[in-house]
Amino acid sequence: MLRITEIFYSLQGEAKTSGLPTVFVRLTGCPLRCQYCDTAYAFSGGIQISMAEVLDQVASFGARYVTVTGGEPLAQPNCLRLMEKLCDAGYQVSLETSGALDIAGVDPRVSIVMDLKTPGSAEVSRNMYANLALLERKDQVKFVICDRQDFSWASFKVREYDLLARVGEVLFSPSVGQQDAAELADWILAERLPVRFQMQLHKILWGDKPGV
Ligand code: SF4
Repeated sequence: MLRITEIFYSLQGEAKTSGLPTVFVRLTGCPLRCQYCDTAYAFSGGIQISMAEVLDQVASFGARYVTVTGGEPLAQPNCLRLMEKLCDAGYQVSLETSGALDIAGVDPRVSIVMDLKTPGSAEVSRNMYANLALLERKDQVKFVICDRQDFSWASFKVREYDLLARVGEVLFSPSVGQQDAAELADWILAERLPVRFQMQLHKILWGDKPGV
């Protein structure tokens, strides 16, 4: 069984598959409390659904891409088995995770999008840096930037851990309502940082609401 907040079909709004039609499986629960969290509705509630039912619902959309997200999906141990089954079924599977929980058990076929929490998130102490050694070229590391201090911190971490050589892409996103997007873009260019600037496509298209 899995506790699920929502299963829906939309365009992927972030990372290297941005713009691709994707089924999202949002698992309930998260042990973190980032101050900018836009999915607090997934902290609790949800409904218990069998693995088979989740797979049936995913299949009903006829999509190629599936993103397992949350909350923090790895907080539910059965998440690992779900991702295995989705891979076995032939989907291209990605995982969105906070970076605070161990990713060692994630199926190697899954593309991991892992956050490193910045000081501005209020959860920087939760970063599990040992995870970085487990990431590969198929994976991505994401920073949500709240202010100039976060940008400087993230730039330092990119270099400290040689992230651009370790993973496929490094993503910098402005924290919505806190960091001006154009200003962040200017900083990236001025710093000559080969990271991907991104804005959440689904919010630009449909606004900040569940199910998109
Ligand atoms: S890890 Fe993600 S879901 Fe959890 S509080 Fe932070 S932003 Fe929200």
